[in-house]
Amino acid sequence: MYVHGLGVSRMSTVEFVGPPRQVEPLTVEELQDSIRRVSGTDVTITTMLSGTRWIDTARQATTYRAGRVLLAGDAAHVYAPVGGQGLNVGIVDAANLGWKLAAVVCGWVGEDILDTYTTERHPVAARLLQNTWTQIALMRPDPQTRALWEMFSDLMDLDDAHRYVADMLAGMDVRYDLGDDHRLVGTLCPDMNLTLERPDPDVVTAVTRSADLLRDGRGLLPDLVDRAEVRDAAAAWTPSPPARTGWTSKPC
Ligand SMILES: Cc1cc2nc3c(=O)[nH]c(=O)nc-3n(C[C@H](O)[C@H](O)[C@H](O)COP(=O)(O)OP(=O)(O)OC[C@H]3O[C@@H](n4cnc5c(N)ncnc54)[C@H](O)[C@@H]3O)c2cc1C
Repeated sequence: MYVHGLGVSRMSTVEFVGPPRQVEPLTVEELQDSIRRVSGTDVTITTMLSGTRWIDTARQATTYRAGRVLLAGDAAHVYAPVGGQGLNVGIVDAANLGWKLAAVVCGWVGEDILDTYTTERHPVAARLLQNTWTQIALMRPDPQTRALWEMFSDLMDLDDAHRYVADMLAGMDVRYDLGDDHRLVGTLCPDMNLTLERPDPDVVTAVTRSADLLRDGRGLLPDLVDRAEVRDAAAAWTPSPPARTGWTSKPC
C-alpha cells in the first residue's frame, strides 16, 4: 500500500501482489508505477511532497510483561493502519498500565496487579488484529471478495451491525472480566448524560455529559446509587479544585 501526501492531496494505491521489494523511502517512480498498474491509466507524477508505504504486517507479543519489562503500544502489537486504531489502543494500554504502576510504586497493591495488564489488554489487540485482517480481506479485488463486500455493505445498513462495527473500531466494546455481571462493570465509561443535582431544591439541576466531567484527567466516580459507602470510598480522592462534593449524579 502506498500513500502520497496528507489531507486533500492524498493519493493511495493498494496492491495485493506481495510486499514491496524496496525498503528505501518511496520514490516518485515507484508510486507512479503502482498507480499505472492499479488504475491502468498512463499517469505521470511530476512532484511528490512526501510519501510512505506500509504492508499488512500483523504481530503481537505473547505477553506484555516480563518482570520489570512492560510493553505498550506498537511495541506490543502492530498491524496495518486500516481503520485508524493503533494509536487509540496504545493509549488505552498506557492508561491501563499507568495507574497500576503508580499503585505498585506507592505500595498500595502488590506487583501481581501488573499481570492483569496482559490479561486485560492482550485480548483487545488480538481482536484488533483480527478486525484489521478482516478489513484487508474485504479489500481484495477478486470477484468473490467483491460479492462478500457487497453483502457486508448491506449488513452495515442495519443499526445493530453498524453499532457493532462502530463500537469495535472505537474500542467501546472492550469489557474486562471483573467478576460482576452488571453490563457496565469492566467497560469503558460510556458518554452518558448525567443529571447533577444537590439535595437543596433551590439549586438548579444541571445536565452534563460524563465525557465533560473527565476533562480534568482525574478519576470520576458517579454516585448512581446514593449509598454512603460509595461516598466514603471516594472521599479520600475528592479532587481539589474543582471540588464537586455534595453533588449526586444519576443517568438521564
Ligand atoms: C500510515 C499510518 C496511519 C495511521 N493512522 C492511524 C490513525 O488514524 N489512528 C490511530 O489510532 N492509529 C493510526 N496509526 C497507528 C499509529 O500511528 C501507531 O499505532 C502509533 O503511532 C504507535 O505509537 P507508539 O508510541 O506505540 O509507537 P511509535 O509511534 O512507533 O513510537 C515509538 C518511538 O520510539 C522511538 N524509538 C524506537 N527505538 C528506540 C530506542 N531504542 N531508543 C529510543 N527511542 C526509540 C521511535 O523513534 C518512536 O519515536 C497509523 C499508522 C500508520 C503507519
